[in-house]
Amino acid sequence: MSGLRVAVLALQGAFAEHEQALANLGVSAFELRQRRDLERSFDGLILPGGESTVQGKLLRETGLFDPLQARIASGLPVFGTCAGLLLLAGRIQNDERTHFATMDTVAVRNAYGRQLGSFATVGTCKGIGQIPMTFIRAPYLASVSGDAEALAEVDGRIVAARQGKQLVTAFHPELTSDLSVHEYFLRLIRAD
Ligand code: GLN
Repeated sequence: MSGLRVAVLALQGAFAEHEQALANLGVSAFELRQRRDLERSFDGLILPGGESTVQGKLLRETGLFDPLQARIASGLPVFGTCAGLLLLAGRIQNDERTHFATMDTVAVRNAYGRQLGSFATVGTCKGIGQIPMTFIRAPYLASVSGDAEALAEVDGRIVAARQGKQLVTAFHPELTSDLSVHEYFLRLIRAD
């Protein structure tokens, strides 16, 4: 899997685990922290889990917000986990704010039915197969529309979706040893 370079947004949250997953796949990664990091070339972007409100604020303060939004809107492949799913959501049902809002999705924050804390399960993801799914104060998608497609559901709720080269999961593949969601993202990057 050499040749690709993936930027990992490293303002807050579980970015180191994504870097490790990419390293395990032999893909080079670097941390995106400030505007001048955008001068480096990269083929895809990972938005890690963490706290979407904090990440949204830091994205705006660092001046990363506008250029990243423009690049995602014009086709930069992006993989958002958990808080990253919220950053990409077109609307957040229980929050007045939106962030990049580049996906035709409606998300619900901190509202996963089965838990207030965390849980792990095994679920099926379209295009990938059975995978472990670790949820931590997770959002879910109440609906997808337009070009957005649901890829996985748990307890009748959408927990993974894709729209063009944008991929989101409510769960955290980077916290398990299973690399198949990251591999799926790399296939998305490489696809025409
Ligand atoms: N609850 C977090 C938020 O609203 C998301 C949780 C996570 O990324 N683990 O941003």
